[in-house]
Amino acid sequence: MSPNEKRLQKVLRDEQSVNRLGIPVKYMCLSLMCEHHKSLHGELLDISEVMEIYKLESVPEDCRCGITQILMDETGNPRTPEIVEKAKSQARG
Ligand SMILES: [Zn+2]
Repeated sequence: MSPNEKRLQKVLRDEQSVNRLGIPVKYMCLSLMCEHHKSLHGELLDISEVMEIYKLESVPEDCRCGITQILMDETGNPRTPEIVEKAKSQARG
């Protein structure tokens, strides 16, 4: 199984777990190492956006992005804003 395939499957598994529990989440890109998606580093994406960007039909084979699940609170803000902030400040260099 390719790394891209593994990544997508993990995201789908994670999504199913939180769906069952009714927990709102977004997905943060860790893409400083990826030439194709550097500008996405620290961005919070919906599952549908993740599926679109990282679908196997079109994602570059040498994509090096990591995708991590971020739990959201009732008001739609990350429960761990410091993690998101840290990624964003890395992106700013
Ligand atoms: Zn990438």
